[in-house]
Amino acid sequence: MSETIFSKIISGEIPSEFIYEDEYCVAIHDINPLAPVHVLVISRKPIVKLSDAGPEDAALLGHLMLAVGTVAKQLGVDEAFRLIVNNGEGAGMTIAHLHLHILAGRTFSEGRMATGLDA
Ligand code: 5GP
Repeated sequence: MSETIFSKIISGEIPSEFIYEDEYCVAIHDINPLAPVHVLVISRKPIVKLSDAGPEDAALLGHLMLAVGTVAKQLGVDEAFRLIVNNGEGAGMTIAHLHLHILAGRTFSEGRMATGLDA
């Protein structure tokens, strides 16, 4: 896959503050936050999107979920956050490198889950 902003952030080519990192992923604050807390947990492995992951990525995908919990605890939002993974351009994905959005610090309603983040 071609290099993305996220692979450049991971390599350090684009300086960015990692609020969490481990061997599988890094976490950064989103540059354009859609909630008081908006963090991206980015896979170090440059998988384009979730549906491109295969059985060989099972440990990575599980690890990303655990990392989300760790980051949410670190930020004090583990009791209430929304986790979003955009899969493909049609779903709003703008950077073709697997990442998870943690959103918190505001109210999200179940009934409007599919209408976007302005609900
Ligand atoms: P996507 O729409 O692909 O699911 O999410 C990409 C996210 O990356 C967007 O929420 C966008 O604001 C964020 N983003 C884009 N470029 C940068 C950047 O250079 N630094 C940071 N921290 N976030 C970025």
